[in-house]
Amino acid sequence: MNARELPLTKLRGVSEARAKLFAKLGAESVYELVLITPRDYEDRTEVKSVSSLTDGESVCVSVVAGEPRLSRTQTGLTLVKLRAADDTGVIDFAFFNQPYVRDNIKAGGEYVFFGKAEVSGTSVRMTNPVYEKRGEADTGDKTRRVVPVYRLTAGLSQYNARSAARQALDLLGDVPDILPQAIRAKYKLCDARFAYENIHFPPDFIKLAIAGRRLLFAEMLTVALASRSLKRGRGDAPGRVLDVSALPEFYAALPFAPTAGQTGAIDDAARDCVSGRVMTRLVQGDVGSGKTVVAMALCFASARSGSQAAFMAPTELLASQHFDTFTKILGPLGVRVLRLTGSLTAKKRAEARAAIASGECDVVVGTHAIISDGVEFRDLALVVTDEQHRFGVGQRANLSAKGGSPHALVMSATPIPRTLSLILFGDLDVSTIRELPPGRLPVKTFVYSEAKRGRLYESVRKLAGEGRQIYFICPAVEESENPDSGLKPAVKYARELAETVFPELAVGLVHGAMKPKDKDAAMRRFVSGETDVLVATTVVEVGVDVPNAALIVIENADRFGLSQLHQLRGRVGRGGHASFCVLFGGSGGEAAKERLQTLCSTNDGFEIAEADLLQRGPGDFFGTRQHGLSADRLAVTDPALVEEVGAAADELLADDPKLKKPEHNGLRDAVAAMMRGVAAN
Ligand code: ADP
Ligand code: MG
Repeated sequence: MNARELPLTKLRGVSEARAKLFAKLGAESVYELVLITPRDYEDRTEVKSVSSLTDGESVCVSVVAGEPRLSRTQTGLTLVKLRAADDTGVIDFAFFNQPYVRDNIKAGGEYVFFGKAEVSGTSVRMTNPVYEKRGEADTGDKTRRVVPVYRLTAGLSQYNARSAARQALDLLGDVPDILPQAIRAKYKLCDARFAYENIHFPPDFIKLAIAGRRLLFAEMLTVALASRSLKRGRGDAPGRVLDVSALPEFYAALPFAPTAGQTGAIDDAARDCVSGRVMTRLVQGDVGSGKTVVAMALCFASARSGSQAAFMAPTELLASQHFDTFTKILGPLGVRVLRLTGSLTAKKRAEARAAIASGECDVVVGTHAIISDGVEFRDLALVVTDEQHRFGVGQRANLSAKGGSPHALVMSATPIPRTLSLILFGDLDVSTIRELPPGRLPVKTFVYSEAKRGRLYESVRKLAGEGRQIYFICPAVEESENPDSGLKPAVKYARELAETVFPELAVGLVHGAMKPKDKDAAMRRFVSGETDVLVATTVVEVGVDVPNAALIVIENADRFGLSQLHQLRGRVGRGGHASFCVLFGGSGGEAAKERLQTLCSTNDGFEIAEADLLQRGPGDFFGTRQHGLSADRLAVTDPALVEEVGAAADELLADDPKLKKPEHNGLRDAVAAMMRGVAAN
């Protein structure tokens, strides 16, 4: 059997039931398991002498064991106590509920333990450490190395995931390499086998960085090649000519004067739409820069030309909000706007579809499902995609394949540095809105430690007393797989805030695992001011507009990228009120706190995106691949990498425009898979 198709049940410890859990994470074969990279790493590389341990640090000690002793606690748990020592001092270990430790550890043997040191006075302890015999520790996977931390699902432990990944790598042997030897040599990239071995089980952070650089390079190169081939595929495809002469009428209907950036972007798009070629334009602008106006202007022009436009938002919530805005502004101009979302009743949806097919409707506002559900248009001339973070090559390929080649306008949710946008969006023309509408107050941003939580809660009460509203953002919905992670789960936190912290306030909850209907209802209660405090996951990240919200508190902010935090922060500062953003740094340590400080010093999304690129490398901007290189700590922070990828793509295509040479087979397949929206190595 082809090694790529080996089922997961070939692995020791993976039953049919457990294989289903891995499938939930996106791996249905041994090969796909190897492609799922860790989400983080635990640093167990440091070995210290017992006398130099400080309280609370997690490190290894290398010691000689005494006699392990088994007893029971008052509550009936087994307890193995073990005293051990190195040349500098004595350390006591306690193992709860692991009676077998007594037989595993031999008095007089040398072991390496990893755990959290508890130091008080002259006493040094560790509770439930992991350990290996000194010889084994050289090749083992528990101590003296970097240990992978995987994304899990209920029923899977880190132990299960690590064991499966280890076996998968061993079983697979060689990993096919999509990068041609010449590219690897020129850009000093390791081979695929080394990369996957070391992305999963790096002995140290240097090897991890080498592996990460190579995987990221391969992924970015695939994107770059795919977007260039899309551009070539489109060529000078003929596009219909729209009538843009009525735009002044649209401007006159706006309740405000458009900014220069807005008219600039509208002019760019209008020029595309009269050129006779198909438009594929990306509008980049910071959060709050008013990208919706650009979209509305073009939808208006389409309607005036007697054709139809589709406006697609990433969530039902946003679709509803945009529908309201479109109706308010375009309605009076005689444009027939219709809503098409999953939360409509079957009957309403059928009516909407009929109106779209007959041409009774000029502009449809809905979720991305408009396109994927195969809605029939009488005459679709324009497709606008709003707030796309990850407008993958696959989706773009899909768009182009849509009948009648409609013009495509994409509103980007995050500002992206220019070098990167050339790779990610090489096939698109770009308009950038640099300024915000006049009169915006910058959001004052602070990084707080736990000690200030009490004071923060006071401020929340005070603001709510003044009639303002507050967001609390959590990184997770439910209790995490790892109780030590310290992540605030939204559901539990909302209960805590409602019951004990703010019993006098109305606390709402919205998260991605809720039914669209419930999510919509919860959001509407917040929009209407019925709820004072909204606890939410990042579902509110894009586009949601509640001008009365004056404070956003982001828990475990170290878990988010700077650009994402900036997006979240953009939920406040939308009215005339002074607005604030409080970031809790969590357990991220000093480096993480420093990273967060960037947000305190600037409100410019482009500057923040550049900082993100410098500090965290390009990995954050790439989510195109199914499994993604999501680990924050890949440590690929080389900004030159992006330029190297661009150069490599140009060289490859100059040499072999259709990637037909045998040594380019791997890349060609990867590009094709990406266009189909499938993961490839
Ligand atoms: P984004 O670029 O984040 O999608 P929106 O289009 O949602 O921004 O606009 C944010 C807010 O700014 C909206 O409430 C909108 O009405 C307002 N707005 C947009 N353009 C202007 C302008 N030129 N002058 C004043 N307010 C504006
Ligand atoms: Mg928007």
